[in-house]
Amino acid sequence: MVHVQGLRCRECGREYEVAPIYTCEWCFGPLEVTYDYEAIASAVSRESIAAGPLSIWRYQDLLPVERNPALDLGAGFTPLVRAERLADELGLGEVWIKNDTVNPTNSFKDRVTTVALSKAVEFGFKTAACASTGNLANAVAAHAAHAGLPSFVFIPADLEQGKIVTTGVYGGNVVAIDGNYDDVNRLCAEIAGTYPWAFVNVNVRTFYAEGSKTLAFETAEQLGWETPDHVVVPVASGSLLTKIAKGFSELHTVGLLEDEPHVRVSGAQATGCSPVETAWREGTDTIKPVKPSTIAKSLAIGNPADGYFAIEAVRETGGALAAVTDGEIVEGIKLLARTEGIFAETAGGVTIASLKKLAESGVVRPDERVVAYITGHGLKTIEAVAPTVAPTAVIAPSLDAFHEAFPSIEEK
Ligand SMILES: *Cc1c(COP(=O)(O)O)cnc(C)c1O
Ligand SMILES: [Zn+2]
Repeated sequence: MVHVQGLRCRECGREYEVAPIYTCEWCFGPLEVTYDYEAIASAVSRESIAAGPLSIWRYQDLLPVERNPALDLGAGFTPLVRAERLADELGLGEVWIKNDTVNPTNSFKDRVTTVALSKAVEFGFKTAACASTGNLANAVAAHAAHAGLPSFVFIPADLEQGKIVTTGVYGGNVVAIDGNYDDVNRLCAEIAGTYPWAFVNVNVRTFYAEGSKTLAFETAEQLGWETPDHVVVPVASGSLLTKIAKGFSELHTVGLLEDEPHVRVSGAQATGCSPVETAWREGTDTIKPVKPSTIAKSLAIGNPADGYFAIEAVRETGGALAAVTDGEIVEGIKLLARTEGIFAETAGGVTIASLKKLAESGVVRPDERVVAYITGHGLKTIEAVAPTVAPTAVIAPSLDAFHEAFPSIEEK
């Protein structure tokens, strides 16, 4: 059963029928999927969700896809891990890590891709495409391979080696553009207007974006149908943050949460690309595009499409935005790895370092139940930490050499 009513412009409210369109003809505002929440409320229950698949498709009633089964590589239903040692280090109380590093292609982008390409197949598209800062390239190439579709993914040429290999291996076309992500995105908008392809984050972006809500759905379900007090979310285009905020309130709207949730939503950026945090700090809603220069390449969008809506969600929920340096990002990656055994990519370093900053400034409080969204795996950006990690010792294969290297360890 699909409970979609249609599409609506987020600026002027004009309504459209479901189609692969993403901007309003009248005001060029972004379109959003609208649902019949009463129909959803009578169709879903905590029990029906619990009986569903162990992927984001357990929430299909709250997603804009008819095809059942949808295209499913197993995105979602990732662990929510209690982080006591990290909480101690940060002087916080109850902290959880939503570990999205364990998705099929090791980032949260599998969630949005599985929704976008399921919808694209419904629309009859025969080729999958995307403009990517890296992780989306992995996810689209893999899901297209699984669906038997040819793919074209467009990336900035200076992307991490790991992300190029883990895209190319799926056999689609990888097109490296001599420019930054914003250049890639501009070109893709033109190509999307010229070729009959499903660009998951261009012409099917309206549907793509809905996939991010599942990070809120899972968090609530995994907390026993309760919500956190505060979440920290990495921000690139701002879509993920906006949709996590929407996800929590939708659960209440359809009766899955008894109490109206009050989840403070805070955002995390790298100082080398922090247009949303800058606008927030300067108290303006007007986001000035920047030229990115940061090791957090997956977040390096200098002209964020949903930046305005992200600021709005942060303000409405009583959150804040933080930005951290490349050095702090590396420290954040190592802090999470050392305290919790979870290896995150640079975007995760941004999130943890920002959580630390927000805790130090008193924005995130020790009395709050906090969830930090770790959206990509550390093996994807291994060059970020490689220079600071080496073997503890290099020794000859003899017991004597070991004694010499570790003289103070007590023997049995
Ligand atoms: C894409 C991405 C994000 C955030 O994306 P939005 O464009 O803000 O929705 C966060 N973390 C990682 C690892 C990503 O790849
Ligand atoms: Zn409009």
